[in-house]
Amino acid sequence: MILIKSIRPNRRAFSSMLDLQPRSLYFSSSAAAVEAERTIREGPRTDWKREDIKSVYDSPLLDLLFHGAQVHRHAQNFREVQQCTLLSIKTGGCSEDCSYCPQSSRYNTGLKAQKLMNKDAVLEAAQKAKEAGSTRFCMGAAWRDTIGRKTNFIQILEYVKEIRGMGMEVCCTLGMIEKQQALELKKAGLTAYNHNLDTSREYYPNVITTRTYDERLETINHVREAGINVCSGGIIGLGEAEEDRVGLLHTLATLPSHPESVPINALVAVKGTPLEDQKPVEIWEMIRMIATARITMPKAMVRLSAGRVKFTVPEQALCFLAGANSIFTGEKLLTTPNNDFDADQSMFKLLGLIPKAPSFSDDVDVSEDVQPLKEAVSSSG
Ligand code: SF4
Repeated sequence: MILIKSIRPNRRAFSSMLDLQPRSLYFSSSAAAVEAERTIREGPRTDWKREDIKSVYDSPLLDLLFHGAQVHRHAQNFREVQQCTLLSIKTGGCSEDCSYCPQSSRYNTGLKAQKLMNKDAVLEAAQKAKEAGSTRFCMGAAWRDTIGRKTNFIQILEYVKEIRGMGMEVCCTLGMIEKQQALELKKAGLTAYNHNLDTSREYYPNVITTRTYDERLETINHVREAGINVCSGGIIGLGEAEEDRVGLLHTLATLPSHPESVPINALVAVKGTPLEDQKPVEIWEMIRMIATARITMPKAMVRLSAGRVKFTVPEQALCFLAGANSIFTGEKLLTTPNNDFDADQSMFKLLGLIPKAPSFSDDVDVSEDVQPLKEAVSSSG
């Protein structure tokens, strides 16, 4: 009895023992720890040095995960996860050569090119997504750009206006856009525009040759200047080195302001594309990317995007812990399979996640008639 009493931990003694220890003995001093602490203290910053991001990225994995979680809890409501639905409104037949994409007309993937979906079908899909809990509806079109597609663009402006009127955030990914088109999308009520950088500037020419990195940045700039939220991230598993993943995050984290959304995609290798034989991305690679994105861009919605279907619920839980707070829901992600609604609902329940409500802080008047936009489109030509 005396013996038991003597070895029982005494709480006060333990606390004072901790007080006497040098801080480094029980707190980590990895780059992830140092930068996470600085992010929490100073908030988002855009003056990141590439080597600093590399040091964060290279931190011991569990340490990086832990500090990603700390920043996440500080900068976000850590239980909230945004559910977005992405619909391909114009599939296939794209002139670009993005080597991961089954929608490029250059590759034989068996995908049939389709015309722009009509309004009723798009609105029905949006309504279905809303009823299933999605708060953001994203429309993707397989185009190099929207220039010279006036009729289709006017239709899309109408879709944006209608879906925004349904109380959902609306996002588009239509390839490169000009400044005038960004303004028209903003006026129609667009919340966000997605244009991924895909990878680092250095590795980019290995993935796409039909448009430049600077052209991508220019579209992002047009979106930003129009007052639309920027959604921009990348894909891992393209054959790039870890240095390229760091390069991608460095470009995003040093934009004049961070993207509001940063999708982190794991390549879904599709047969017929040049990247069909790439080995699958491992969960540890995703966690490293997500936690580094969270520490470097604390206010962004970090989106666990393509490839999620390959990850188990415990694996996804680690991604949420590392700092991911947004997912795509729905059976398909453009043309590739995705997790279904029911499975996601069960996962939310199991992990204690709650759906994030839509946010319209930069609201626009969507009651205006779309007619003035038509004139603007005609003149943007
Ligand atoms: S990623 Fe977009 S631009 Fe590239 S080939 Fe696919 S649809 Fe075209």
